[in-house]
Amino acid sequence: MSKVTEIIALIFDFDDTLVPDSTTKLLAKHGIDTNKFWTVEAKALIGQGYDQAPAYLKLLLDNVGVEKPLGRLSNRGLRDFGATLDGDFHAGLPEFFDDIRAIVAEHAEIEVEFYIISGGLQAIVEGSGIVQKYFNGVYGCQLDEDENGQIRYIKRCVTFTEKTRYLFEINKGIPPKVSQTRPNTVNMFVAEADRRVPFKHMIYIGDGMTDMPCFSLVKKNKGHGFGVFDPSSQSKAKLALEEFMEPHRVTGMYQPDYAKDGDLGIFLRATVGSLCLEIESERRSIRRE
Ligand SMILES: [Mg+2]
Repeated sequence: MSKVTEIIALIFDFDDTLVPDSTTKLLAKHGIDTNKFWTVEAKALIGQGYDQAPAYLKLLLDNVGVEKPLGRLSNRGLRDFGATLDGDFHAGLPEFFDDIRAIVAEHAEIEVEFYIISGGLQAIVEGSGIVQKYFNGVYGCQLDEDENGQIRYIKRCVTFTEKTRYLFEINKGIPPKVSQTRPNTVNMFVAEADRRVPFKHMIYIGDGMTDMPCFSLVKKNKGHGFGVFDPSSQSKAKLALEEFMEPHRVTGMYQPDYAKDGDLGIFLRATVGSLCLEIESERRSIRRE
């Protein structure tokens, strides 16, 4: 360990992990039939060969314009909508983030950072005051506007494997602003010892199939993965068991309760605490050598 300050990163998926699905809420707010949107129209595009993310982004953009359900929606409009999500965060949030900071603050020269990697819309996520206050970086799908200032083009698309690109950016210490215009920076060689956030100091929290590559990458490199699921949905519980737990892709599956006495909240606090102790004991053993 050559670095003076070690960084622990908690990296979250957004929709259904921190809040109920934000795109669904946006569509419903504008009177769009969300069931038809996801299970009929998006499914049909995927059947034509569309990848999941561009399928829903195309459908969303098809609904933008004068006399269309989403009207002349802009990125500003998406951010304003994101600001309305602060009351929707799951139990125990945002106090959880303060608690994690307090746990880490008890240890010298260890810092904690929070990130979101989402297949949803980055402008919505960044509109949240909670996200602005606590998070060090947000990665998500981005849309560009036309000459009238309404969203019209897909600028960046975050698919399931694309999510791992951002784990590598965090790992190598590439700031989001740099990678935005120089996407190949992530492919530059950085020696293990020089990587800003080692994978073993990462904790990834997600709920869906799109999080699988991130769970695999973090776990393979001795990091931690926590799955979130809605126990009231039988299909989600089945998915949790068959795809997350049985193949040992995650350390555990919990309902999204981040409170001090919620199972997920308890295990995440404990994991951060034990990571801090591990870092300190590694430091001591290096000094003794
Ligand atoms: Mg999700």
